Amino acid sequence: MTDKKRRQFVTMMGASTVAIPVSALIGSLPSHADDAPMVDEASAAAKNWEYVAQSSVADNLCSNCALYQGDDDSSSGGCPLFPGAAVAAAGWCKAYAPKPS
Ligand code: SF4
Repeated sequence: MTDKKRRQFVTMMGASTVAIPVSALIGSLPSHADDAPMVDEASAAAKNWEYVAQSSVADNLCSNCALYQGDDDSSSGGCPLFPGAAVAAAGWCKAYAPKPS
């Protein structure tokens, strides 16, 4: 094996070791919440974040939180705090952070 081919091989192996973890990460990302179960307010995770499906503060809603992953007109959507589940657009939790305007 020539030096040039060896360098190409090493470069290719380096690229493939980077590509594998990235593809594994993409596969583990939460899917859109269309078919995900709703977050159970009684769950430990929900209690930890004090999540409620109906916010008591008019303008502090999951739908206008920076972490909300649902579409603008959706009734529910994903949230990275609750992987594999959906939060209500009208919900709220103590990690609420308004979307930048
Ligand atoms: S961080 Fe809290 S307020 Fe924001 S979308 Fe997630 S559950 Fe809703």
